[in-house]
Amino acid sequence: MADDGVDLNELAAFPEEEEETKPTQKLAVAKKADTHTTIHTSGFREFLLKPELLRAISECGFEHPSEVQHACIPQAVMGTDVICQAKSGMGKTAVFTLAVLQRLDPSEKKVMALILCHTRELAYQIKHEFDRFSKYLSAIKSEVFYGGAPIAQHRQRLAQDPPHIVIGTPGRINQLAREKNLNLGGVKYFILDECDKMLETLDMRKDVQEIFKQTPHEKQVMMFSATLAEDIKPVCKRFMHNPLEIYIAAEKITLHGLVQYYVQLKEEQKNRKLVDLLDALQFNQVIIFVKSVPRADVLNKLLQECKFPSAVHHGRLSQDDRIATYKKFKEFGIRILVSTNVFGRGVDFERVNVVINYDMAEDIDTYLHRVGRAGRFGTKGLAISFISTDEDSQVLNSVQQKFVVNIPQLPDEIDAATYMNA
Ligand code: ADP
Repeated sequence: MADDGVDLNELAAFPEEEEETKPTQKLAVAKKADTHTTIHTSGFREFLLKPELLRAISECGFEHPSEVQHACIPQAVMGTDVICQAKSGMGKTAVFTLAVLQRLDPSEKKVMALILCHTRELAYQIKHEFDRFSKYLSAIKSEVFYGGAPIAQHRQRLAQDPPHIVIGTPGRINQLAREKNLNLGGVKYFILDECDKMLETLDMRKDVQEIFKQTPHEKQVMMFSATLAEDIKPVCKRFMHNPLEIYIAAEKITLHGLVQYYVQLKEEQKNRKLVDLLDALQFNQVIIFVKSVPRADVLNKLLQECKFPSAVHHGRLSQDDRIATYKKFKEFGIRILVSTNVFGRGVDFERVNVVINYDMAEDIDTYLHRVGRAGRFGTKGLAISFISTDEDSQVLNSVQQKFVVNIPQLPDEIDAATYMNA
């Protein structure tokens, strides 16, 4: 496929441009191996959820709660604040979705639950989770609001028929709240998904704080992420009251079904290697991560010229294109996706079994989130990282040290059974 007269060194010469992105109780889960094989044999019934919820859960194919669901749901449905760090793909979304749907009383017509997350695609995905689980709770209404979509429509929807649950990105939600289109005075459940990302990024943190200030003092706060650095934990806890804290130890956080390798190479060798890998590997779906928008566009073009069925995703696509690409990839209409970090966290694509870091992640958390797009909910997956600079090697070494994992050099041949689900 590669030898169609395409210059495989083209991307290497392309400029880089960064994408704009805008007293406690503890549970000893961290001490236990947190794997998908330790899913609980008890079912969701033990959580004493509403029958309508149990029915929807069963229709979603969820049989047994994961470790994190088992640890958090019972307390979350009792109204306890929760701060939870558990590895990618463990089903953290269902924790807050089920807790909110269990507790929310739809007889009052006002916004009672607010879920904030860092990207539009994740907001869209969370809205979808609420739709799935509230299938038999037809009185409960949820809406999603994010930037890039016309604000006039958002205002109209809020004025005409305010939902009980609002999901959104901080910028748009803050604007709607500031301009009094969105009344947050009735919020009882305040949730931050990918909380470290939202509180580390200063402009997002400012938005989150402003939004938080408009909500009542008495409410349940829940926060989730696969990564929570020590210095961000106190920042999170400032929003909470006596939270249940669930932290999975770093060495336990790597994904068990995931096989990880690196390839040492020069920048100008990356395209050739990528094309060879795409030819050789068996994959259902693959995400190739690059460090900037222009590189994503150029690499995608190059792959298409080499006749690979690829598409591109990044934050500079139009709003409609962003959601359309998300949907198409989710529905398996795209096999190969070149992406920036916009798809590096939170988003759930069941069939992705290969992740390639064409450009190595810039830090260990980014690495962990990116590779977590494969091997979700205990499935198998493969992550290959291209290492071309000293900084890349440093990140690779830190990942190995922090997560106590050995990432070997890519062998000449990999047995597909190690990363393909049967
Ligand atoms: P996280 O937020 O922890 O990264 P998600 O909430 O996106 O993970 O869940 C990952 C995938 O696992 C989703 O496709 C979700 O539908 C699925 N999932 C979650 N909980 C269960 C469960 N108990 N049984 C089966 N599948 C589950």
